[in-house]
Amino acid sequence: AKEDGRGTYRFFEAGMDARAQARRLLELDLRAALQRAEFEVYYQPIRDVAKDVVVAFEALARWNHSLRGMISPANFIPLAEETGLIVPIGEWVLRQACIDAAQWPRDVGVAVNLSPVQFKNPNLVQTVKQALKASGLPAHRLELEITESVLLQNSEATLSVLHELRAFGVRISLDDFGTGYSSLSYLRSFPFDKIKIDRSFVTELATREDSMAIVRAVTGLGKSLGIVTTAEGVETDAQFDLLRREGCTQAQGYLFSPPRPAAEVESMLSSARAQ
Ligand code: C2E
Ligand code: CA
Ligand code: CA
Ligand code: CA
Repeated sequence: AKEDGRGTYRFFEAGMDARAQARRLLELDLRAALQRAEFEVYYQPIRDVAKDVVVAFEALARWNHSLRGMISPANFIPLAEETGLIVPIGEWVLRQACIDAAQWPRDVGVAVNLSPVQFKNPNLVQTVKQALKASGLPAHRLELEITESVLLQNSEATLSVLHELRAFGVRISLDDFGTGYSSLSYLRSFPFDKIKIDRSFVTELATREDSMAIVRAVTGLGKSLGIVTTAEGVETDAQFDLLRREGCTQAQGYLFSPPRPAAEVESMLSSARAQ
């Protein structure tokens, strides 16, 4: 078993050839998908808890495969990262998300996920600036979501990229907060605009006191540091009520809406919260 660095294990002993071959096929497919423009961006609303309105959408990649239908990012992002294909795919998502957001009827934010691999590309800052310029989207409407693993690698270079982006007006969010190692020290290493509380804590909010205590601590931390807190994966009214009571700033999850195609953004903006 070989650890892939995300705490999961992939087994290479049995059926190595079949697996390696399937992987090679997927890689070829992934390259072709870029050429054939088979990727799509779906959008999931993020709501302000106190105001109860949509304030942003998270852009989430989908692969609309000609034979296999819609493929979730969990099934192609890891390979895209291993092969470096995440760089052109991520750039495409970023450019498309900026183009889409610039057309929206309200000036809500758009949040785009950045892979640690994209930070190895020396052109990242230029790519972001170009995406904003080409779309006409003001920098303050773009949020870039990174996980703390980004800060683990070559942190000097990474920090200077993040500072440059933030100086340009782009907001930076710390994604999947609480799932890594020394999360608190990352909050000191960079002035994040937002902390996204990982779904695993939100899921157990109403059923486990320790998860409740962690969410309370993180929202409190956000308040004292002046950082927006967003709860991910909110599925029930009970969870939402607890988050509101704790003063969590924003909420995102199936309770409000799953990620949907770009064409449905307008209806997600106008419709009241799903009951
Ligand atoms: P993430 O950034 O943590 O995104 C949130 C994921 O949680 C999304 O899965 C979303 O559909 C899902 N989700 C939202 N609300 C709920 C809920 O209430 N319950 C449950 N069970 N799930 C919920 P998705 O779209 O499958 O994306 C999975 C991951 O793939 C993302 O996790 C992100 O790490 C990665 N990803 C997606 N698009 C991109 C991209 O363009 N670039 C990069 N680098 N990574 C991406
Ligand atoms: Ca994210
Ligand atoms: Ca997340
Ligand atoms: Ca996640």
